[in-house]
Amino acid sequence: MPIKYIDDLDIKGKKLLIRVDFNVPLDELRNITDDSRIRAVLPTINYALDEDAKVILASHMGRPGGKVNKELTMGPVARRLQRLLKKDIVLAGDCIGNEVEEIVEGMDSNYVVLLENLRFHAGEEKNDTEFANRLSRLADIYINDAFAVSHRTHASLVAVTQFFDVCGAGFLMKRELNYFDRAMKNPARPLVAIIGGAKVSSKLGALKNVITRVDKMIIGGGMAFTFLKALGYDIGKSLLEEDLIDTAHRVLDLAKELGVKFYLPVDCVVADKFDPKAETKIATFQEIPKDWMALDIGPATTKLFSEALQDAKTIIWNGPMGAFEMDAFSRGTFAMVDHVASSYALTIIGGGDTDVAVDRAGGLSSMSYVSTGGGAFIYLLEGKALPGIEALRDK
Ligand code: AMP
Repeated sequence: MPIKYIDDLDIKGKKLLIRVDFNVPLDELRNITDDSRIRAVLPTINYALDEDAKVILASHMGRPGGKVNKELTMGPVARRLQRLLKKDIVLAGDCIGNEVEEIVEGMDSNYVVLLENLRFHAGEEKNDTEFANRLSRLADIYINDAFAVSHRTHASLVAVTQFFDVCGAGFLMKRELNYFDRAMKNPARPLVAIIGGAKVSSKLGALKNVITRVDKMIIGGGMAFTFLKALGYDIGKSLLEEDLIDTAHRVLDLAKELGVKFYLPVDCVVADKFDPKAETKIATFQEIPKDWMALDIGPATTKLFSEALQDAKTIIWNGPMGAFEMDAFSRGTFAMVDHVASSYALTIIGGGDTDVAVDRAGGLSSMSYVSTGGGAFIYLLEGKALPGIEALRDK
């Protein structure tokens, strides 16, 4: 059953509980260092306000573990939101309870109510029915626009929907799901997946699912070395998940069976230690010194991977090509950003570290879409349904 979006619903004059993801990064003085998660939901909030709806926003911040933690108040978000929306924001002292029920009781659409951190209550992460029930008392309609947490079975995403007759998703969710479908369900081909990052284990489900859909698969980052080990090469002290060597074999066999072109690094930047000041050199994949570790793809690999992208019509990318946080090991990832950015393909970047890397390389605006979800994006890559979306479908 398809889900409804906010513009499919009659929200005029209604109270809307909108679940958003305002879990923004803060510096030590609790200044917001990146407000893109707030900006990403402005279209939904503005649409609701234009429809004269009364907007109540709910989000989590950090991991307070079910207890009040003043360091993780939504205060900084309220201030930034006020500036971005140019509208008064009332920050409630809690997300449930009499006080907040009174605040929303007589509210109008001249201001927006932001609830205090949902995770100050243990019920949120336990998908607790009673907590969800209290939340639901605040509004007439529930909207989920928190793609990045919708892989979690939490009360404000799942249990809460049972208490609303009318539920839907916001515009950010719509964009995320539409772009994902364009890349993975009905892609313009060739479809190329680039998968990188530290470990095979965290992306195994994604690898197994993605390989059944793509024409080419490019593997970079630490995880490539478990594959090279599976092929019998000595990888020195590079990242290895010994227990996944057999699995890596199976993935390689599957690629062969399905006729998927599988690309692994042919050279790498090796270092004598995991350190920005390490001694480094370029080595082919057959020549990784015994006591050294490979921390980035090398120049020949960059060339090989860029050629694999030449005819791509769709590119989906998750995970950096190396330990890009250190300058010495960032070139491979940054070069890939340039190649993907200059491609004519539909380019979709899966959040987490990948968008940080793309941003640092200045490629963000050249991508067709950069997902706001790390874990949720991986979930989709694994072919799994997001609990937060399924709860809307059940309505
Ligand atoms: P992930 O969260 O799985 O996407 O992994 C991202 C992390 O993988 C980044 O912090 C990178 O520094 C790290 N990484 C990528 N390639 C390597 C490598 N060859 N060796 C060690 N760490 C790596």
